[in-house]
Amino acid sequence: MKTKTLLFIAFALFSTAVLRAEKPVAGPAGGRLLETEPARAEFVVNAAGKAEIRFYDAALKPVAPAAQVVAVTAEPAAGRVKLEVERAEFGFVTKEVLPSGGPYRVVVQVRASAEAKPQNFRIDLNLGNCAGCDRPEYACTCESH
Ligand SMILES: [Zn+2]
Repeated sequence: MKTKTLLFIAFALFSTAVLRAEKPVAGPAGGRLLETEPARAEFVVNAAGKAEIRFYDAALKPVAPAAQVVAVTAEPAAGRVKLEVERAEFGFVTKEVLPSGGPYRVVVQVRASAEAKPQNFRIDLNLGNCAGCDRPEYACTCESH
């Protein structure tokens, strides 16, 4: 029993180390995956310059939003802007475009429901292209990042 527990702990530590060393999983819509629970979420800047939060199941199949509540705050040098979001079939999208003047930090807050504990994600919003993986820098999947 004790050995089993120790083995389990050793395995858990080992898998954490492996996961850390692994390169980031690419967001299916070209954005950055957020480690949300229980569903996965992706932060994407769409062609119009609006931020989208897309939801997926564990196998990264798109799922419609359920009771999730999402908040997006942009933090350009000119000052923080809380962007209003509206529901879309894939999740949420900001009503306005993201402020210009990047790169800057964007904070995405996701709650599984209005009463749930918020999960915060800080994204360095650099829209420049990464030569290594040919994705925008904020969604880069290179191992060194
Ligand atoms: Zn890259």
